[in-house]
Amino acid sequence: MSDKKILVVDDEISIVNLLKLTFLRAGYDVRSALNGEDALALLQNEKIHVMFFDLNLPTINGIELCRKIKKSMPMSIVYAITGYASLFELSDCREAGFEDYFKKPVNIKTLIKAADDAFERHERWRKK
Ligand SMILES: [Mg+2]
Repeated sequence: MSDKKILVVDDEISIVNLLKLTFLRAGYDVRSALNGEDALALLQNEKIHVMFFDLNLPTINGIELCRKIKKSMPMSIVYAITGYASLFELSDCREAGFEDYFKKPVNIKTLIKAADDAFERHERWRKK
C-alpha cells in the first residue's frame, strides 16, 4: 500500500468510485467520504495532505470544507471538482484555499497530474 494518500469527497458514489479507481491505478492510496462531516471525522484519525472535493455537497459545501481544513492544516493541497462553476464561485474557491479546480466530466490524466504535482510540492516543503 502506498503512503501517498488522497482524500476524495463527493456525494455521488459513481464519481467517488471513478476517482478511487483512477488514483489507485496511479499508485496512490485513497480514502473517501460522501459528505463533509465524514471527511472531517476521517481527517481526525488519518494524516492526508492531498484532497479532491466536489463543491456541491450536502450540509457543509466544498468551499466551507476547504476553508475549515486549510485553517487546521495549512500545508494541505486541496483541489475542487465541480459541475458548474460561476465566476463568483471561482473567486470563493481561491479565497477558501483551493489549489485549482476541475470541471466535470473530469479528465483522468489531468487529475493524476494534479495529484503528482501536489505530492511533489508537499515533499519539497517538508524537506525545508
Ligand atoms: Mg455533488
